[in-house]
Amino acid sequence: MNPSALEFFKTLLGEENLSNDPAVLSTYSYDSTRLEILPSCVLFPRNTQDIQAIVAYANTHKLPLIPRGAGSGMSGGSIGGGIILAMQKHFRKILHIDPLNLCVRLQPCVLNSALNSALAPHNLFFPPDPASASFSSVGGNIAENAGGMCALKYGVSKDYLLSAEIVTGGGEILRVGHNTYKDVAGYNLLGLLSGSEGTLAIFTELTLKLKPKPTHQRSLLLGFESIESLAHCSYTILSKGITPCAMEFLDTLTTQALNKLKPIYPKNAQAILIIKLDGNFLPALEYEIEEIRKIAKDFSPSIFKIAQNAQEEEEIWFGRKNASQANSIYGVKKLNEDITLPRSCVPNFLQEAKKIGEKYSLKIPCFGHIGDGNIHTNVFLPSLDLLPIGKDAIKELFSFALSLGGTLSGEHGIGISKSEYMPMAFLPQHLELFKNIKHAFDPNNILNPHKMGLD
Ligand SMILES: Cc1cc2nc3c(=O)[nH]c(=O)nc-3n(C[C@H](O)[C@H](O)[C@H](O)COP(=O)(O)OP(=O)(O)OC[C@H]3O[C@@H](n4cnc5c(N)ncnc54)[C@H](O)[C@@H]3O)c2cc1C
Repeated sequence: MNPSALEFFKTLLGEENLSNDPAVLSTYSYDSTRLEILPSCVLFPRNTQDIQAIVAYANTHKLPLIPRGAGSGMSGGSIGGGIILAMQKHFRKILHIDPLNLCVRLQPCVLNSALNSALAPHNLFFPPDPASASFSSVGGNIAENAGGMCALKYGVSKDYLLSAEIVTGGGEILRVGHNTYKDVAGYNLLGLLSGSEGTLAIFTELTLKLKPKPTHQRSLLLGFESIESLAHCSYTILSKGITPCAMEFLDTLTTQALNKLKPIYPKNAQAILIIKLDGNFLPALEYEIEEIRKIAKDFSPSIFKIAQNAQEEEEIWFGRKNASQANSIYGVKKLNEDITLPRSCVPNFLQEAKKIGEKYSLKIPCFGHIGDGNIHTNVFLPSLDLLPIGKDAIKELFSFALSLGGTLSGEHGIGISKSEYMPMAFLPQHLELFKNIKHAFDPNNILNPHKMGLD
């Protein structure tokens, strides 16, 4: 970074709130995609005014700024060759919990786990539950529109954003949205900002909706001889009006990999379905379990297990929690996608994924959120030199998913890793609209440039 820019930031923030130490730059050069790009400098703004001043300087000197929460993103959104705007040092306060209005006002780098711990004494919770909840930030959740296992019942992060304070790419501090449950005045700017991956504005404060915590939960595990039976059973359960808070599946490759880690599933269980129900009235949950048992009978499950205590609950969830780790036997590198489909197309997609795997001699284990059609599609490479072949396989998977009416990503976002596939999913007219929206918020394209296929 050029010395005069460094001098400006030093004077603005104090020496302790910036770094260009190679060790620090290296720490901020990657996220969970394991892509690596060295930034030019890392800044730790103390407040909204600092951010406004940094954005103004970046506009004048055309310097790229990369907002960063906890750096757990799965698409490379928080890395880049410019200045990292690291929020985790000074933007971690919960400002006000409001149990009557069921909302919380907080700074964006509060971790999901810290928020839910603070809400527990109020019997409240923030439902978006990415598997990264112990180390991801709520600002990162909103910027990625993160989901999780409970999205089927509780929705995704954007459903919980009531209002926000932002600094736009153009350098304006604005409050967007209202703390009301209904709001149709003007364009839905919050809708645009949710999932915008730090390309339009920086969140400096958020007000999020909360839910009262359900008092009871029950988990079930079902095994099936085929993924088709599992999918049809799942969708019959949903169509009968039962909405579990989680409905997760493991395909045959994942089940086999888990059995190598710990022999837990019998041979005739080629696909595993795990369901969690929650609510405040235990007899209602018992009734739903009996309904599920009746529905499942038509699909001849080889396992039907209901957790009777905390230990059995843990055993039921062991497979899902360890699916990623178990699948690592299939290769030295994983290309990790989160393709999402209209529910009824999931069995068709999974069959095609198997065929694509056979065509390229690659293992493609799939697991995840069968209830909302969000499939973690993992292409494993036995050696690193097979990367181009892996990318061809991914292209075919995307192409097939799009032909079924699906989308490139259900929760991990586009960032850098999926940028090149955006023209497959959108017409030039869509991409032009996206660029015009970006230009309206960020006229000099300083915020997270080269992301989301907007170049
Ligand atoms: C093991 C593991 C499991 C995961 N499970 C899930 C899952 O179940 N569901 C899911 O959806 N995701 C999951 N993720 C992905 C990731 O944790 C989420 O996307 C999370 O919301 C990212 O939050 P973060 O604070 O780490 O954001 P970062 O990685 O720091 O940033 C993500 C994006 O948000 C932008 N951003 C961050 N803070 C701000 C801000 N204040 N203002 C503007 N833009 C900002 C960044 O520029 C970047 O584009 C998982 C990741 C891991 C490693």
